[in-house]
Amino acid sequence: MKVKKLFFLIGFFMVACSPAAPVQNPVTEADEAKKLNKRPLNIILMIGDGMGLTQISAGLYRNGNKLNLERFPVIGLHKSYSSSDLVTDSAAGATAFASGVKTYNGAVGVDKDAVSVPTILEEAESKGLATGLVVTSSITHATPAAFYAHVRSRDQYEDIAADFMKTDIDLFIGGGRQYFERRKTDDRDLWKELEAKNYVISALAKQELSDVVLDFNKNFGFFTAEGDPVPTASGRDYLPAASRLAPVFLNQRSKSKGFFLMIEGSRIDWGGHANDSQYIIDEMLDFDKAIGAVLDFAAEDGNTLVIVTADHETGGYAIMLGSSTDSIVPGFTTKGHTASMIPVFAYGPGAELFGGIYENTAIFKKMRAALNF
Ligand code: MG
Ligand code: ZN
Repeated sequence: MKVKKLFFLIGFFMVACSPAAPVQNPVTEADEAKKLNKRPLNIILMIGDGMGLTQISAGLYRNGNKLNLERFPVIGLHKSYSSSDLVTDSAAGATAFASGVKTYNGAVGVDKDAVSVPTILEEAESKGLATGLVVTSSITHATPAAFYAHVRSRDQYEDIAADFMKTDIDLFIGGGRQYFERRKTDDRDLWKELEAKNYVISALAKQELSDVVLDFNKNFGFFTAEGDPVPTASGRDYLPAASRLAPVFLNQRSKSKGFFLMIEGSRIDWGGHANDSQYIIDEMLDFDKAIGAVLDFAAEDGNTLVIVTADHETGGYAIMLGSSTDSIVPGFTTKGHTASMIPVFAYGPGAELFGGIYENTAIFKKMRAALNF
């Protein structure tokens, strides 16, 4: 009797002390499809890098207590952790959305064993949908890269640019032209190769985005800068315009077969890393303008599912006592990311799938279910 009791206690102790093993959401695409009322033709996935609830709240209060995010009828929460860390990075976070797998921090388009995993953008392309990427980082940065590249580490920018050449993305707007034009690891001129692949490419030094004449028979590429484009407070203003242009272009390109577009407000995260509240708010409000442009398109189109979320929160940002709508008194707990759950906003046909609490990988499954992939 005593021995039995001892074993029971030891067992209880072991269970109580073992780390909480995260349980993957077992919901499948087929389960999701049953909940669907009407299928969307197009998906626009918008990622605010580092955009936690406080980043959204600070933007809201400093914008006269209103945001375009309030136009979304369905709101959920996702669990952002990666396979290696409770606190994810952007590479693992974007790979979860793009490919539906939890992977290690730093991984781009590969699983936890560094094996390539297909992405929803690649699948969309193979099924004849038009595809696009609009970012305020370089186009080879972790978040966009996870939708088309497959490398062990997010730092492999030239390898990521080389993987870009294996796709046929109809539209891209972002920085990072040096990884295409002046490569250190080989002699390829990927700008020329892109032109040979039916791209019309422009760059901000030569042309404003608003001056570009669209040719719907060709792919569209627009480089905004070498490396990462500047903060919006330093004059970067293309994201809302690009977010207005991209759906219209892709809608034409797709010839009614649908499109998949990812738009990233890349630099909300930079503001968090810098523990700079005004930087966060400026980038948040720029991203919200882009959201407004996309919602206007979706409202008129009626066949577009719009999803807005973030990969993770950055800065452990807080709005402290003494704050007002004119001035936020910020607090930060880290120069890095945090593991709090992240809001998901959905609008349009298929939005009904996005209520509730689920893994970040479920967003991939829900998008695939909505598109009937
Ligand atoms: Mg990013
Ligand atoms: Zn970050």
